[in-house]
Amino acid sequence: MFPGADLVWRRGIYYLHVTQSKEAPPLTETEDTLGVDLGVAQLATDSTGESFSGAEVKAVRNRYHQRRQILQKVGTRSAKRRLKHMSGREKRFQKNTNHVISKALVQKAIVSRKALALEDLTGIRERTTVQRKNRYERHSWAFYQLRGFISYKAAWAGVQVKLIDPRNTSRTCSECGHCEKANRQSQASFLCKQCGFCLNADYNAAINISRAVVKQPMVSRLRS
Ligand SMILES: [Zn+2]
Repeated sequence: MFPGADLVWRRGIYYLHVTQSKEAPPLTETEDTLGVDLGVAQLATDSTGESFSGAEVKAVRNRYHQRRQILQKVGTRSAKRRLKHMSGREKRFQKNTNHVISKALVQKAIVSRKALALEDLTGIRERTTVQRKNRYERHSWAFYQLRGFISYKAAWAGVQVKLIDPRNTSRTCSECGHCEKANRQSQASFLCKQCGFCLNADYNAAINISRAVVKQPMVSRLRS
């Protein structure tokens, strides 16, 4: 077998996955940035206010999550088989959604000649204060997969990805700059205690992300 090829067996069929490496194009130099806030209710919201809904994905994921818990309690061999089958389907659905969203975001950056900015989540697990009920979703592999898809599609397209410090992006007013925890009223809404500015919370965060100082440029993992 040649390098970069995997033989995968799925449901009685062999698939040959061939990996090709190509040279990444040079990055487009630009001062303009499209900020992207990745979240739970909306999988992604950008700094122009466009959001990519996670409603469908969330419904599917919750349904699978419930069924999984039931099957785990059952614990028989057929239950285990069903569990495995289910997790494959769920992953493929999620992966497809992540491909669609990441493609749309990168396309938008190309057309508007902007760089993309994301929160740098290195060490976020230690810092985060996500409520327990959200933790399952926030730390799921799907969340990291979407980030990964955005970064490699961006690298292929020559779009720069900037990683910014995630602290205070959701509690700072994008209108007057006032930073206070109470500004973030709920998961969905932002209301500035100082100037009264009101906006969808993810949209407000995405604007802050688009303006934030770059912590480090994301290193492309493409081989050339
Ligand atoms: Zn304000």
